[in-house]
Amino acid sequence: MKLGILGGGQLAKMLVLAAHSLGIRTVCFSPDPNPCIRDITRLVSASFSDEKALREFCNEVDCVTFETENIPLTCAELIAEKVPFYPATKALKMTQDRLLEKSFLNTLGIKTARFAAIKTQDELHDTFISWNKPAILKTRRLGYDGKGQYALHQLSDLTKAWERLQSCDLILEQFVPFQEELSLIAVRSQRAEIQFYPLIRNHHDHGILQWSEAPLENNLLQQKAQTIAKKIMDSLEYVGIMTIEFFHQNGNLIVNEIAPRVHNSGHLTIEGAITSQFENHLRAIFSLPIGNTELISNCLLVNCLGKMFPIHSCLKMPGVHYHDYGKNSYPNRKVGHITLVDRDLERYQKSKLRLIKIQKKANNFL
Ligand code: AMP
Repeated sequence: MKLGILGGGQLAKMLVLAAHSLGIRTVCFSPDPNPCIRDITRLVSASFSDEKALREFCNEVDCVTFETENIPLTCAELIAEKVPFYPATKALKMTQDRLLEKSFLNTLGIKTARFAAIKTQDELHDTFISWNKPAILKTRRLGYDGKGQYALHQLSDLTKAWERLQSCDLILEQFVPFQEELSLIAVRSQRAEIQFYPLIRNHHDHGILQWSEAPLENNLLQQKAQTIAKKIMDSLEYVGIMTIEFFHQNGNLIVNEIAPRVHNSGHLTIEGAITSQFENHLRAIFSLPIGNTELISNCLLVNCLGKMFPIHSCLKMPGVHYHDYGKNSYPNRKVGHITLVDRDLERYQKSKLRLIKIQKKANNFL
């Protein structure tokens, strides 16, 4: 079996590592000539619009998946005509555009932030005035880690936001005053079997995930999140891992966005779950039995942003695992992550505080 992966970043790297132990060979296709998977698998270095390179890539593999939704739909469609492509292009198309995604969710009866498509500065002005509430202006496509978005609190913010994001494809979202942000990772097989990981609590700063913790241990929210995920996955006939990001507000779940792929918050499943999100994605797309999604203990994931944490200080804490992606540093870039898995609750809390302190220190240094 040979898997083709579109993209060559850390998500591709962790998929490649999981594939290796299942005996699945891999090749990555990336426009970046120096991606972080360069040392561990074969790399096709070409543009996503290079049809000849894409056709040759297809001839080499049994199945193709992707690590990012920011790939041209034409590229995905060309591949899907030639080889099995998971998750299917209809899920990719819908999740590439915040407007399509939110409209789709609302047609399923799933709650999102109030939203409106914005094409002109007048439309932005009129919608903001009529809502009379704080809002966030976002590009419909290609936003990640808080990029391509601007918070609007008062009228004077509108001109700055318009100058910054000016584009004909914008969406205005009402600001959701949430208590916490959660993510649910789910996997659906080709036979429509679905398994869910326990809910993960995510802590963001400036739109970037800083750390995540699981399990949330709230049965009611877990059930609500699973019902929403099942509705979405079944309606898309989805195959593979899907991540749904939620805002939690007074016992209600509001969907922020869907990632049709393995997710940063789910990195804690590598050491923290019986089967990792990466392995379960591969099991689903290769029609293998889905693995157990239970966590083996409390776990914490801390992102290394801009620079790796000192390895000795991390590894001397029991239950800590170190993941260096081998990427060049620049401020706020996700260059690695640390996972803490520890059944001893008292020791876990101590190590958690220490890791978050190390993260703060590393961030301040930049
Ligand atoms: P996104 O790229 O849409 O996931 O946004 C990045 C982060 O910005 C989210 O994780 C939230 O912390 C915040 N955010 C985005 N949209 C909203 C919203 N409508 N209301 C409140 N916070 C938001």
